[in-house]
Amino acid sequence: MQHFNPEKALVAIRREFGEHGGVAPSIERSSTFTVMHPGTMPEIFAGTLGHEQDGCYLYSRHFNPTVHLLACDLAAMDGMEFGICTASGISAIACAILQICKAGDHIVASNTVYGGTHALFQDMLPSMGVTTTFVDPTDTAGFEAAIRDNTKAIYVEALGNPTLKVADIPSLADIAHRHGAKLVVDNTFTPAMITPSQMGADVVVYSMTKYINGASDVVAGAILGTREFIFELMDLHTGRVMLLGPTMDPRTAFDIHQRLPHLPLRMREHSRRALAMAERLHELKAPVTYPGLPSHPQHELYASMVNEGYGYGGMLTLDCGTREKAEEVMEMLQNREDFGYIAVSLGYFDTLISCSGSSTSSEIPEEEQRDMGLSPGLLRIAIGYTGDLEDRIAQIESVCRDTGLIG
Ligand code: PLP
Repeated sequence: MQHFNPEKALVAIRREFGEHGGVAPSIERSSTFTVMHPGTMPEIFAGTLGHEQDGCYLYSRHFNPTVHLLACDLAAMDGMEFGICTASGISAIACAILQICKAGDHIVASNTVYGGTHALFQDMLPSMGVTTTFVDPTDTAGFEAAIRDNTKAIYVEALGNPTLKVADIPSLADIAHRHGAKLVVDNTFTPAMITPSQMGADVVVYSMTKYINGASDVVAGAILGTREFIFELMDLHTGRVMLLGPTMDPRTAFDIHQRLPHLPLRMREHSRRALAMAERLHELKAPVTYPGLPSHPQHELYASMVNEGYGYGGMLTLDCGTREKAEEVMEMLQNREDFGYIAVSLGYFDTLISCSGSSTSSEIPEEEQRDMGLSPGLLRIAIGYTGDLEDRIAQIESVCRDTGLIG
């Protein structure tokens, strides 16, 4: 399989300097942009002049120089032609899907997706005439079997939230393309580590709220794809991002842009620590799931898709059986050991722990949670990189012992 080097791709693109030669780019906060001659404005509206080739900006809900810079760097890092940033991950997902699917269309989606995405597909899109069939992401043939004449998109998370099931991106891309559909991949759990564009994905979406920003201080998203697709999203008449308007603020774009260069470093450290912890817990026979463990059913598939040197990611799960046991474990991890925080989200430098079934996946009905392999006691642990690793391992080991998760 073709592996990609996101660090090389990032440095290979144009560098933007601040207006006084600063090593950091300037923040362009204008919401609107002047033109030197009145005749220019109609040309910008007609699309014969644009920001890319002519440096002509119009209005910041359309394109903004600072936000555009982040989108370009992100697209380069992901081996994609072009991108657009949005105000949140869920707006990126909704706009991308609504651009591809119109009333009467159909989606085949993984049943292991973020709860908000599940709600969008299951509860909201049907009111717009778009229906979804959910399939276990490990059942690649099931995606093909679920395709109908009106299927326009296959939708998966590269590493599924929260069960950590792995989508076979190359095979799903092949299936989608044979049936005239687009493969849309949410790569939120595995940025820089997995590069879906190199395996045939047509559109990549991100919640940048998570690893890409890495500081749990902004909510942000992105859509990456072909230049044609991104311009469709920004079309003045029908563009879902242009007309639904989930615009990113340039100050947010600047903050995330400053953190993008160290994303690969951070991802490798999240992986190194999560692997060490998962190996120790597995050795002790704790109910741990981690794609880096040979016991993970899709360990080989994941290894075949990950870029060299990135490991297996920062997410692991611990199945405590019941919600009560999960809460006991979380309580001790946070309040006795200072191991991390009881909080949703991921990608922070400190560890974040949540019980998915009753939090970020609570939109998914209980029966469907069972079908997707989500136990009510599943703890999703987003391993951070603060503290001494051996101390951290000792902390989680002692909580597992004291709560009876290990003998
Ligand atoms: N995709 C995944 C995999 C997520 O975990 C989340 C949020 O938890 C989202 C998308 C939505 O992102 P945001 O909260 O930035 O809208």
